[in-house]
Amino acid sequence: MTDIKKQIREFESASDLIEPGSDRRHELFQKVNDYTEEFLQTVNERNAYIQSGLDGKGISDAGIHEEGVGIDSILEMYKDNVEQQGISTVSGKFMGYIAPCSMFYSALGDYIAAITDPFSVDYSASPGAVRMEKTLLDWMANLVGYPQGALGNLASGGSMATLICLVTARESHKLKARDYDKSVVYMTDLTHHCFKKGLLVAGMGECIIRKVAVDEGYRMRADALKECVEKDRERGLLPWLVIGSAGTTDLGNVDPFEAIADVAAEQKLWFHIDGAYGGFFVLSDLVKEKFKGMNRSDSIVMNPHKPLYTPFGLGAALVKNGQQLYEAHHYTASYLQDNYLEQDEVSPADLGPELTRHFRALRLWLPLKLIGVAPFRAALNEKILLTRYAYERMAAQPGYEMGPYPELSTFAFRVIPEQGDVNEFNRQLITELRKDGRVFLSSTLLDSNYMIRVNVLSYRTHIEEMDLMIEVLNEMVEKIK
Ligand SMILES: *Cc1c(COP(=O)(O)O)cnc(C)c1O
Repeated sequence: MTDIKKQIREFESASDLIEPGSDRRHELFQKVNDYTEEFLQTVNERNAYIQSGLDGKGISDAGIHEEGVGIDSILEMYKDNVEQQGISTVSGKFMGYIAPCSMFYSALGDYIAAITDPFSVDYSASPGAVRMEKTLLDWMANLVGYPQGALGNLASGGSMATLICLVTARESHKLKARDYDKSVVYMTDLTHHCFKKGLLVAGMGECIIRKVAVDEGYRMRADALKECVEKDRERGLLPWLVIGSAGTTDLGNVDPFEAIADVAAEQKLWFHIDGAYGGFFVLSDLVKEKFKGMNRSDSIVMNPHKPLYTPFGLGAALVKNGQQLYEAHHYTASYLQDNYLEQDEVSPADLGPELTRHFRALRLWLPLKLIGVAPFRAALNEKILLTRYAYERMAAQPGYEMGPYPELSTFAFRVIPEQGDVNEFNRQLITELRKDGRVFLSSTLLDSNYMIRVNVLSYRTHIEEMDLMIEVLNEMVEKIK
């Protein structure tokens, strides 16, 4: 007995390092704070694309060992290998893809969440944490216009939240494996690829994908949807799901929800809205009208880690009839049999695929409580107007061919050279922009044309950044000519 006790004490003392004392905590915190403070103080000088030639190999070469190293060398390694190469979504000059920067306040929320680590999985385990998540989801459901009874889940991002909605739609329509190759999903050419991936992951890769015709603004045509569904029914297929976008990735255009909802109701389709990028623009009076009919969808995905500026890792799934979400994800196990409280709220574990999970709510709840919703509303209004400003300035310049007028905060364009291949010219333009690094834009294909996209979403993007973007573009166009 004394022998085992002695051994235990030895291991106890060898594992002591896991819990630093107050002085050590203070020292580490100070160093990390110095590092992040320097980062934040110089963030506006950062290029949107950094090419230091370092590719993170220092991290792989350093490996993982039995003994630790000092915090200074760790921070240095991080700076050289992670911070110094690649796209800087934290920069206000970053206008590629849809990946705006994270807020300081969220970092504080994450810090508290990591230190206190509530078990946000189960109501009886941590009722306050679960209610915090529910409060955020109720706020979002209210923005969408869903009635009482809507439920949701804070997932790690839009793709995961989409998977949750797809599974709920599948279970609600009682589809079985034998139905999958007859089940039809309606979308447009501009629908995000996470749906096909989600179907694949949900075991439904055999589903038929029907691309519905679009109007001149690349919005789904409800009359074409209806025609497709009727034809599919005549063929003996099972029309199941229609996906509308509240802001596509390519153009930020918004599908006509009211008209789609009419067809979905008549044809008994599950109506899902992808608001991963644009859903929160419902906060803006400038564009709110476009979202009419959003409340008639069956489910929706909205990404706080895009227009609400939390760090990457927060996407919300909402289902209008919460019971359907619960029935698709509820599970019990003998080792979870003890409940400590009356169940006032449904547990997140019963509303999604995860069990133990990051307490994500605090990274959004803390900033919303601290500064309120108003600054976010203002930021989104500013982004909409900045986008219109840049679009109009560029449209007035010779040689610029503009895509549709921006509905939210995204547009596409291309430059038409006096001679030579247009696609090639624009591809080269993107390459030159990347080499220059000051601003970052990405590209897409629209009707097989190579188009450059501008997405304005960062709270660090203001008029100066828009002017710089146009200035740099013009410089690069001259250079290629
Ligand atoms: C970003 C995005 C997604 C996917 O969300 P992730 O958080 O990246 O998984 C889906 N749809 C649209 C329109 C998006 O912009």
